[in-house]
Amino acid sequence: MTKPKETKCKVCGCYFVKTISSMQKVCSPKCAIALSKEQARKKREKQEKAQLKERKKKLLENDRGHWLKALQKEVNKFIRLRDKGQPCIACGAVWKPSFQASHFIPQGRSSFLRFDERNIHSGCIRCNLFVGGGNIHGYRPRLVEKIGEQEVQWLEENQHRIKKWEISELKELIKVYRAKIKELEE
Ligand SMILES: [Zn+2]
Ligand SMILES: [Zn+2]
Repeated sequence: MTKPKETKCKVCGCYFVKTISSMQKVCSPKCAIALSKEQARKKREKQEKAQLKERKKKLLENDRGHWLKALQKEVNKFIRLRDKGQPCIACGAVWKPSFQASHFIPQGRSSFLRFDERNIHSGCIRCNLFVGGGNIHGYRPRLVEKIGEQEVQWLEENQHRIKKWEISELKELIKVYRAKIKELEE
């Protein structure tokens, strides 16, 4: 006679012979209760996680700051591609892949100009982050050379202008810039 096949209990790990059904996963009623409790807990956890994710998504959807940042990311990426190979706008250093999108009028000063392509050019990390004021004294003359005195003056005249960007507008521009990036990447 062959020995009856033994199965390992999912809960306590002991070996048992199936007596109830071929689907039996546990050795005893006690372990069956423990198993169903564990399954219920896992299900609850999964539901809670899904709800949290949904709530976060809704919160982000209505968070203007989130969309402002998201658009800036796309615009900056576009600027880096547009200016690829060009020297630093502020000091003239030879182009490097680490160059960043650098604002002439800082984005914190003018919400109106923060996504304006005339106001953002590729520059070295040193000028963008470490030289006081984004190395503005080096930036201005090179910007004049690039876009003309008139445009630079226009930027300066509008440097304190405020614009309240609507979320719908930001989303629309994200699409526009993603398309522009795609075009340059091809
Ligand atoms: Zn068991
Ligand atoms: Zn520089």
